[in-house]
Amino acid sequence: MNYYSLTNKQHRVGFREAVLQSIAPDGGLYFPEVITPLPSDFFNSLDRLDNETIAYTVIAPFIGDAIPENELRKIIKDTLSFDFPIVPVTDSVSALELFHGPTMAFKDVGARFMSRCLGYFNRENNQKTTVLVATSGDTGGAVASGFLGVKNVDVVLLYPSGKVSAIQEAQLTTLGQNIQALEVNGSFDDCQDMVKKAFRDADLKNRNLTSANSINVARWLPQLFYFFFAYKALKATGKPLYISCPSGNFGNIGAGILAKKLGLPIAGFIAATNANDTVPRYLENGLYAPNATISTISNAMDVSNPSNFIRIQELYANDREQLKKDLASFSFTDAETRTAMETVYRESQYIMDPHGAVGYLGLQKVLANHPEAIGLFLETAHPVKFQDTVEAYLNRSLPIPEPIQHIMTQTKQSIPIRHYQELKDYLVN
Ligand SMILES: *Cc1c(COP(=O)(O)O)cnc(C)c1O
Repeated sequence: MNYYSLTNKQHRVGFREAVLQSIAPDGGLYFPEVITPLPSDFFNSLDRLDNETIAYTVIAPFIGDAIPENELRKIIKDTLSFDFPIVPVTDSVSALELFHGPTMAFKDVGARFMSRCLGYFNRENNQKTTVLVATSGDTGGAVASGFLGVKNVDVVLLYPSGKVSAIQEAQLTTLGQNIQALEVNGSFDDCQDMVKKAFRDADLKNRNLTSANSINVARWLPQLFYFFFAYKALKATGKPLYISCPSGNFGNIGAGILAKKLGLPIAGFIAATNANDTVPRYLENGLYAPNATISTISNAMDVSNPSNFIRIQELYANDREQLKKDLASFSFTDAETRTAMETVYRESQYIMDPHGAVGYLGLQKVLANHPEAIGLFLETAHPVKFQDTVEAYLNRSLPIPEPIQHIMTQTKQSIPIRHYQELKDYLVN
């Protein structure tokens, strides 16, 4: 399978190069050259297949001959080492819990898959790859955990000092081995600017830098899996299924829509956002006009210019009317999010985190017009990752799970930096 750059379709590379480069030299995102629907007997027999077989069937065409079958099956088995439960919340609504992985955020799936692909690509050479990531919290933890101990890969995480939660900081700074955290005296945007500068820096060309952001196809594509798992679990109901993704950078929802293009019979998708409403406004009026980023209680989705939306547009050949047939998008305030968390807890005893709650709200909008349908929202993080907010709103305590308690007792190791030059010095040495 080849991938082309979305800014220059003549530029094509295989899966391996797309993963190692992350983005094309012209700055474009990579996109698969062909998307072939899976055969109908695959969908008919889905409920009799195990998750690893489903995942392999779905992703193998996108890997092509870059990774041999037995290795790819191993990577998938390793990636899917935890559960993806579907928990009923009301008669027609369920939560797909994607937070049962090691860092309790759905990003574990993509990070684990990508790390193992890089490990495979680097198995024989002694060239080191450096994965450079700016994180506002969850991405860094998932990448650190996913890449821990992977041969010939060093991970350098930049995070804004004092602006991540205690749990998140412990996940970033206590693992050691091939994971190094740089604690930036600045904002998340400062971290991201430094990372971008490093990728453009000619002096660092020989350092084999790559990114583990969802722009990397090896992080983006494995998100296909859980939409198939969800359909498998709910197929027997025979009812139309709507799926709502709490969306920030739009990688997750993009993977869902790609699953539909592969033939997965989902009635429709909902991209639910917080106050950062660029996409809902675009679907409404056709103008793509990002505003300044707004801070919200669902902070992993505080993105005003979502990188992956261009991939969704590509799936519809930039035809907004066609896109609107499959995708609805709504924005919700923090007050609405809070009310949803309180109401669902009171009526169903289900604890939503602020991100899942935004997804829940999006689903309610669409199900109101489709009483015959059922709906699923993605629970993208364990509520304990947003402990202060959840405990305050629901007026109850949330016990910290044992693996997180353990990591909180480990010694923090980070290098404080202030300027780009300090990052560069670190990478050169
Ligand atoms: C990253 C993240 C999201 C947003 O996912 P995208 O693929 O960027 O849209 C939602 N919820 C949580 C908890 C996240 O960490």
